[in-house]
Amino acid sequence: MNKVKIRKIGAQRILSGSPVIEPLDFAKKVERTEGTIVSLFDQANQFVAKGYIGAESKHAGWILTKDQTEEIDTDFFVRVFKRAKGNRQAFELNEDTNAYRFLNAEGDGLGGLTIDNYAGFYVFSWYNEGIYKWKDTIIEAFTKSVPDFKGIYQKIRFSMEEKPEDFVTGKKAETPLIIKENGIKYAVYLNEGQMTGIFLDQRNVRRKIMEEYAVGKTFLNTFSYTGAFSVAAAMAGATQTTSVDLANRSLERTTEQFEVNGLDPADHFIRVMDVFDYFNYAKRHKMTFDVVVLDPPTFARSKKKTFSVEKDYVKLIEEAIQVTEKDGVIIASTNSWKLKSETFESFIEEAFHNQNARYEIEEQFSLPEDFRTNPYYSYGDYLKVMFIRKLS
Ligand code: SAH
Repeated sequence: MNKVKIRKIGAQRILSGSPVIEPLDFAKKVERTEGTIVSLFDQANQFVAKGYIGAESKHAGWILTKDQTEEIDTDFFVRVFKRAKGNRQAFELNEDTNAYRFLNAEGDGLGGLTIDNYAGFYVFSWYNEGIYKWKDTIIEAFTKSVPDFKGIYQKIRFSMEEKPEDFVTGKKAETPLIIKENGIKYAVYLNEGQMTGIFLDQRNVRRKIMEEYAVGKTFLNTFSYTGAFSVAAAMAGATQTTSVDLANRSLERTTEQFEVNGLDPADHFIRVMDVFDYFNYAKRHKMTFDVVVLDPPTFARSKKKTFSVEKDYVKLIEEAIQVTEKDGVIIASTNSWKLKSETFESFIEEAFHNQNARYEIEEQFSLPEDFRTNPYYSYGDYLKVMFIRKLS
């Protein structure tokens, strides 16, 4: 057993619920070998918790249990997975949705690993080398806990020289794999880089758009990626959608999303271009929209410039205001854990002030139920989405 002494402040933080081990928690310099299980003791030699070493962001590792007698073995991970499964029963029973997050890292008691279920194919994302060292045990525990899985894929989210294959075991998924969400089909690719084609954390936002913000509306979707918001809007009765993304692949992927739902892509616009160029184009042609979606990445580098949420979001909202109809709606989203809700709201206020316009925030969304968060780890609660009505 690796017994490690930690400082009082770390012990207090962990005892009160924090799921993370910080480098400063260690009372003395300890050798941090990825994947090592450590038993943490306070200065009075009282047991605090067991965790594993895994460097991720600025963290040193994650807590696994506060029970000194609990061994970290296959059975431990089986318990974690059974608990995660129990918490997703509503999804298992839902016939309209078969893609959801099965395990959300520290929100489900296992920092460093997320698992998404795409129609029976499970995608494991390993966020540090320490947890990845436990891969064989974890996969064994998973196959025991979810015996009806079709196949397992993986993404390595830490730096590694030669990354292993995405496919791990079971059956291979069709390409594309068609999943269902809120009754809509989406084409996903489990074997192509870090992203699969859909961001599952926006499920409730897509549903809200379908239920209340699409019928009979014109819909501009910026940073549209594979056009998931556009397809949801079109399926719910938007008269026309426009999807704008800089990436070349967005054209064929968005076209495909329309096609798999039996929609004619020719009825919709798909523009491969910088969103700021698109806003200029729309303004020049005096185009306006009933609904405008802003869903930028936290940081992006394009040929001409860099975009960052902190530096550019106000400008982005200002652009959106100028092409949104009176009584129209701007749906502004960010997945930056650094950007606090209050700051995001102040961006909105500043942008409307600068444009001499009035607004009302009508709906707010954060992560959906399956993206369980840990109340003592606020960074995990990253998603903020505002539905903003432009009043004048
Ligand atoms: N809204 C999407 C996800 C957006 S991911 C969805 O719901 O699925 C971010 C996207 O922004 C990427 O596809 C990237 O190509 C695009 N992007 C980044 N910078 C851009 C820019 N300046 N103009 C247009 N698209 C950009």
